[in-house]
Amino acid sequence: MMNVAVIGSGTMGNGIAHVFAQHGFPVSLIDISQPALDKALGTIGKNLDRQVAKGSLSEDDKAATLGRITTFTSIAEGVRGVELVVEAATENVDLKLQIFRDLDQHAPEGAILASNTSSISITKIAAVTKRADKVIGMHFMNPVPVMKLVEVIRGYATSDEVTSRIMEISRQLGKTPTEVNDYPGFVANRILMPMINEAIITLFEGVAGVEEIDTVMKLGMAHPMGPLQLADFIGLDVCLAILRVLHEGLGNPKYAPCPLLVNMVMAGRLGVKSGEGFYSWGHGTKDLIVADRFKK
Ligand code: NAD
Repeated sequence: MMNVAVIGSGTMGNGIAHVFAQHGFPVSLIDISQPALDKALGTIGKNLDRQVAKGSLSEDDKAATLGRITTFTSIAEGVRGVELVVEAATENVDLKLQIFRDLDQHAPEGAILASNTSSISITKIAAVTKRADKVIGMHFMNPVPVMKLVEVIRGYATSDEVTSRIMEISRQLGKTPTEVNDYPGFVANRILMPMINEAIITLFEGVAGVEEIDTVMKLGMAHPMGPLQLADFIGLDVCLAILRVLHEGLGNPKYAPCPLLVNMVMAGRLGVKSGEGFYSWGHGTKDLIVADRFKK
């Protein structure tokens, strides 16, 4: 099995490491923060326990999965001998460009460099390396061990060979890869974020309340949760940042973020992670309670 490095051990990185290791790939999990690495191993252990309890994984497979993950705090050491790197560090352009310069320098010459970015151009990331043909987007969905999709994003210079290799590796992980081209928001966020923005505009204009909007979309369109609840889960700051990428990158006013979303982010109402967004989350995420601000 090819050796894989995962950069960043946060929400996405730990899930990506989990899935590769469970499917037999030796994984180097790399983060600048040792506490983040410790936390990631704890989370992977707990998620594997859940699979064991459900009967979808044996105790032996759990131990073998954990045994395939080695942690590092240095990119240079962690990428030694790997054939694939999946970068899932913090969503910040300058940070990612620096990571890809480092990866280009330290990863073996033939290694494929993939990014899990939600909104940064793969072509831009590729351009700071001397192997743009081997740079590609591998966009996993949260939670990674559960969600089947991998949006495979071809940068301007990504080769056919590298694309088919990544499609094949995604299938080996039990996922369904889908090939798309590198334009702002790719496909997932190009369609999801305008829907979330429209839900916020609908609320802002007083067409309907939070519960009504989410109920229409949940029951009427068979979505597992309404767009406002989903926005709270994703983080309103993340939604705003992606809308700005669409707005600037595509130059079309239809992507302009709703002023209510902008205000909520400025007020620190970011959804689940801050305790309040369209809903109030102080009690946990089981029950849906509309935030006081939006109660009728
Ligand atoms: P996170 O904040 O949970 O984790 C990011 C991790 O990166 C942190 O542990 C941090 O210490 C580490 N990091 C920062 N700088 C680093 C460096 N120089 N080297 C190594 N590690 C470094 O973030 P996340 O939500 O896991 O997002 C990671 C990436 O995945 C982003 O590009 C994001 O756009 C993308 N993404 C996120 C989601 C989601 O739902 N959270 C979904 C799809 C894609």
